[in-house]
Amino acid sequence: MLYINGEWAPSRSAREFESRDPASGAVLGQVADAGREDVAAAIAAAEQAFPAWAKRTAYERSAILYRAWELMLERKEELAQLMTREQGKPIRMARTEVGYAADFVLWFAEEAKRVYGETIPSSRADQRFHVLRQPVGVAAAITPWNYPISMLTRKIAPALAAGCTIVVKPAEQTPLCAVETFKVFADAGVPAGVINLVSSSDPEPIGDELLSNPAVRKITFTGSTEIGKFIAGRAAEQMKRVSMELGGHAPFIVFPDADPVRAAKGAAAVKFLNTGQACISPNRIFVHRSIAETFLATLRERVAKLKTGHGLADGISVGPLIDEQALTKMQRQVDDAVSHGADVLVGGEQLKGGAYEGGYFWAPTVISGVTPEMLIYREETFGPIAPVIIFDDEEEVIRMANDTTYGLASYIYTNDLSRAYRVAEALDFGMIGINDINPTSAAVPFGGVKESGLGREGAREGLSEYLNSKVLGIAL
Ligand code: NAD
Repeated sequence: MLYINGEWAPSRSAREFESRDPASGAVLGQVADAGREDVAAAIAAAEQAFPAWAKRTAYERSAILYRAWELMLERKEELAQLMTREQGKPIRMARTEVGYAADFVLWFAEEAKRVYGETIPSSRADQRFHVLRQPVGVAAAITPWNYPISMLTRKIAPALAAGCTIVVKPAEQTPLCAVETFKVFADAGVPAGVINLVSSSDPEPIGDELLSNPAVRKITFTGSTEIGKFIAGRAAEQMKRVSMELGGHAPFIVFPDADPVRAAKGAAAVKFLNTGQACISPNRIFVHRSIAETFLATLRERVAKLKTGHGLADGISVGPLIDEQALTKMQRQVDDAVSHGADVLVGGEQLKGGAYEGGYFWAPTVISGVTPEMLIYREETFGPIAPVIIFDDEEEVIRMANDTTYGLASYIYTNDLSRAYRVAEALDFGMIGINDINPTSAAVPFGGVKESGLGREGAREGLSEYLNSKVLGIAL
């Protein structure tokens, strides 16, 4: 069902599409397949609802978000089970994601009350300046499948807190997660037209309407850099505001003064999270030559022990990839690396037959001897392959780490405080984990530099993305 103007309804064409389990191929359900006219109706509803929603007090908007936070936590288990079926991540990680998704709702319920303006001194004695912060208007959100609930709340919650209304187009692979997320907000009392959901099997006409309709004043996109560039270009035609959360190619650097065993455990944990399908997943693991042997032995041992399978089965820590195309990409990157001289230390192949039948499973893989000529050194892998590169000195590794068009997350392992600061300041990335594999939280700004995007989500900055500044110059 689509959710437009406070009502659940089929698409105008009555077309539907299937949602499937990537671990088995089983059909999970049918979803309304929106067309252009549905999107136009959703935008019209959001436009109509905007003035009244923007006029509500921050306290009223905050109260609705608090209720949504409570409901999301009450429904945590059902949401997590659905996410595992539809997206594939193991159930423990799905529960963590629902918690993370709820964190954004709570954070922005709090921040809604802190949309402060400013008073600025004038050079004229008879003049006063005030800056108001007002909602940008109707926002359109386009979201990916890899974090199918938290990527929605990271956009819906700040939009609502700021006083914006929103139309959401979720990824075609995970529409059921979007439907259940919308039920949370609808049941929390979000008024009709303030949030609208248009799921579709074909993103192009939906995107085209969102980008060409002048009522949409803001586009917030999370997905690949390729599509992000296309969308930002189209948004520029009407100077719509944009936030872009795009791909990454995270370096993970282990310096000689670090504990190689702890670093290898960290690498194994973060690399295989969500089957490597995370924008902050390490894509190049740089290890200093002096500790490489211990690091590689530990990494190999940890990875060999990872259990792959359906995320609802016991003891599974790595689920399926999202589709056939992702398997093809893994094969291409591994074949290319091997043909350029890399060694596969563990994994390196598709998992087939038995419990894997019908699913898109790739064995957790470690490759050593990776060099800059290889595809995997530059192209986002988005899968369970850990490529290891040996380095000799600090300056060299900073240069190699920055040698990418991406700039999202990066990781450093060192016990030398000066080095930690020096390297963190020199790395051209938006987020840096120092002896830490999760430099994220609803309370801190998430986002990248270079081709990893524009703008930030979460934190105080995440709210600013939905606010315009308006200056009042007053002569006394
Ligand atoms: P994708 O770019 O293929 O799709 C993202 C969204 O864009 C989907 O909803 C899709 O339907 C839509 N889309 C595709 N073509 C479109 C078009 N022509 N017009 C309008 N919409 C269109 O990305 P994906 O495969 O869903 O997600 C994986 C990518 O997302 C990776 O590159 C990953 O790094 C990135 N990602 C980034 C972040 C972040 O916060 N920076 C978070 C999660 C994922």
